[in-house]
Amino acid sequence: MNNIIDRYRELTEADKTKVIISSAMAEARKIIPGGNVATYIPELGNVDPNQLGICLFPLTGEKICMGDYNKRFTIQSVSKVIALILALEVCGAKRVFEKTGAEPSGEAFNSLVELDRENSRPYNPLINSGAIAIASELVKEISFYDLLRFTRVICDDPEININEDVFKSEISTCSRNRAIAYLLESKGLITSDVDDTLNFYTKCCSMDVTAESLANLGRILANDGVFKETGDRIMTSSTARIVKTLMLTCGMYDGSGTFAIQVGIPAKSGVGGGLLAVSDKRAGIGVFGPALDEKGNSIAGINLLRNISNKLRLNLFYDPEWNEDE
Ligand code: GLN
Repeated sequence: MNNIIDRYRELTEADKTKVIISSAMAEARKIIPGGNVATYIPELGNVDPNQLGICLFPLTGEKICMGDYNKRFTIQSVSKVIALILALEVCGAKRVFEKTGAEPSGEAFNSLVELDRENSRPYNPLINSGAIAIASELVKEISFYDLLRFTRVICDDPEININEDVFKSEISTCSRNRAIAYLLESKGLITSDVDDTLNFYTKCCSMDVTAESLANLGRILANDGVFKETGDRIMTSSTARIVKTLMLTCGMYDGSGTFAIQVGIPAKSGVGGGLLAVSDKRAGIGVFGPALDEKGNSIAGINLLRNISNKLRLNLFYDPEWNEDE
């Protein structure tokens, strides 16, 4: 026993982090059977639910990747972060927040109930209604190809493309998003062509990324919008701050509050099983685990982040006096 403890003490910080992540992976794998892959987009129903991967990329130190960290999956709602960054940069915060609010919704990600009230707007840009409103502004300014190129840069992943099968599957079955778009149009919140807007939005969701690409993106957000190695600023400080704040309060849909208590860092989920998390000033984290909980968030991914956040003390409100197991 002492031998093992002595050997643990001799490990480098990076090795200790690897030990923590690999034991958290083993724990998280056990709960995969409690979740299901999304099937409302038929093509996503063909994904193997047992996959799990993570990449943690600290601002200083080596990138740590495990499991299915380099498997491609569709980014889905994590793309709402990228569209929001671009909208803030290209259209400006004033225009963005004329179209959507900045409050948690407490409703499912694809809810349209709030849109039926007079003078209402989507609660925030990280749910479907808000992201569709954002897409309708972006199509006036940029092409989808511009957004794809930006995504390749910010994710440091030139291989990102559209998964055509998933795109076709979603665009031919997206009655709910179509209903949202027409409601938004009826309220004057969409002034672009509805089909162009839905095509743009759905293409954003169909980009195929890896957990590693998401970690690269998270690391730029963690570093105030600056690419560490070159010093290139990818977005303004104000954009980085707005995006991280909305991720913290609204990034996990109607599971955002519980996630904030349990994990305590900004994050964004997608029904493809992706999770983007940001440990501010410390690391970007990408996770892939396609089995989802009832709110549409990766079931094993949340468990993994919860364990890692506790063990690596990532929670924004971490207090050294706390008992980790409480
Ligand atoms: N493309 C999906 C949709 O519009 C994205 C939803 C999600 O990832 N939560 O329903």
